[in-house]
Amino acid sequence: LSERLSGVFDRLTRQGALSEEDVKTALREVRVALLEADVSLPVARDFIKAVQDKATGQAVTKSVTPGQQVVKIVHDALVGVLKGDGDPGALKIDNPPAPILMVGLQGGGKTTTTAKLAKRLKEREGKRVLMASLDVNRPAAMEQLAILGVQIGVDTLPIVKGEDPVQIAKRAKTQAALGGYDVYMLDTAGRLSIDEELMEQVKAVRDVANPRETLLVVDGLTGQDAVHTAENFDARIGITGVVLTRMDGDGRGGAALSMRAVTGKPIRFVGLGEKMDALETFEPERIAGRILGMGDIVALVEKAQETIEAEQAEKMMKRMIKGQFSMNDLRMQLEQMLKMGGMQGMMGMMPGMGKMAKQVEEAGLDDKVIKRQIALIQSMTKKERANPALLQASRKKRIAAGAGLDVSELNKLLKMHRQMGDMMKKLGKMGKGGMLKQAMK
Ligand code: GDP
Ligand code: MG
Repeated sequence: LSERLSGVFDRLTRQGALSEEDVKTALREVRVALLEADVSLPVARDFIKAVQDKATGQAVTKSVTPGQQVVKIVHDALVGVLKGDGDPGALKIDNPPAPILMVGLQGGGKTTTTAKLAKRLKEREGKRVLMASLDVNRPAAMEQLAILGVQIGVDTLPIVKGEDPVQIAKRAKTQAALGGYDVYMLDTAGRLSIDEELMEQVKAVRDVANPRETLLVVDGLTGQDAVHTAENFDARIGITGVVLTRMDGDGRGGAALSMRAVTGKPIRFVGLGEKMDALETFEPERIAGRILGMGDIVALVEKAQETIEAEQAEKMMKRMIKGQFSMNDLRMQLEQMLKMGGMQGMMGMMPGMGKMAKQVEEAGLDDKVIKRQIALIQSMTKKERANPALLQASRKKRIAAGAGLDVSELNKLLKMHRQMGDMMKKLGKMGKGGMLKQAMK
């Protein structure tokens, strides 16, 4: 695959904005990559189409090819789809004892994942966990969980022969409350395929336990079947998340994308082996890299973008020291600040800016204010940005109105621009006069 791709990149080495043809050529290969990674055809098709619309016309970063740029855009879009809201590893387990219901087909990895997750909750969050096996179908299933419990030092509900899953769930609930457990985990029985009896059984357990989390455990290697299973379980039982197991295998993880696109349910964890430590929270970037199999290209484009930002910043610094600090420079600064977590954070990092950071804090310059300032600058003409001295009352009115803001806000912005310019000039002089060098000796 990468050979085929580098061929495409050789052909696409022009600079400039991405043409429709560039995007199409690169996306043809990306489509193949997705299908090879076991992404389902309709999901791949929809995804490619969305990216195509987004990518055409985008600028190409200096020193990367259009093909590489498209891969980066695809990668970011993949991460966007894979990422759910919130932290995948944060389970809702307040109000002890919190029930967690584990569901899925037989052999998907429920019992193993139950134990892995219990170990994680115990070790990372200091939770007291009780595990209960509800698998009355397979003779050795309950013993399997009990053995894992001993291995990881987590309690399991004592086995009572002859109970049905609902009775076991009730007993687990009582035992968890009496025993002062934070969490109790219900490991249900699976079937080889979805069937009515299984669903009814799981539903009855769900109604008794009223779980805070219902995690579907599916084999990540089964691709389209995994997605089908998830749709079914969600429709019948209602799931709060998915655990993809066997992601240590050869599979490229395309199931993750289909899963997200089709069910909309968050992927919470991935299983990476049979050992009790082989469970990790879901990381969209990692899976996206694996699905595309083009991690080095993504890194290359990111690096090129960073280099260009650094070049721009250096040029700006030079202009600033010469006293040529334009509104465009200020805007670039403001945008950078938004990216870097606000003005205070950035000023705090710059030597000699501590005092200014304080002023900024007092002025209440938060993200919202920064966004308004950027809007004001956008509302200026090119000439005005280069030379803010042009701004007389009527121009000010027009600019403020254009940004939907008050002239007083524009005045504050102009004042800040002046002060920053003055300060930069001073810094520049200090540098020339050798004061900085003196101070550094
Ligand atoms: P259940 O029927 O859903 O309870 O599935 P089990 O937990 O009994 O797992 C079935 C098999 O899959 C066992 O041999 C596990 O060791 C194995 N298994 C589970 N999760 C993973 C995983 O993430 N990677 C690998 N390689 N094997 C796994
Ligand atoms: Mg099991």
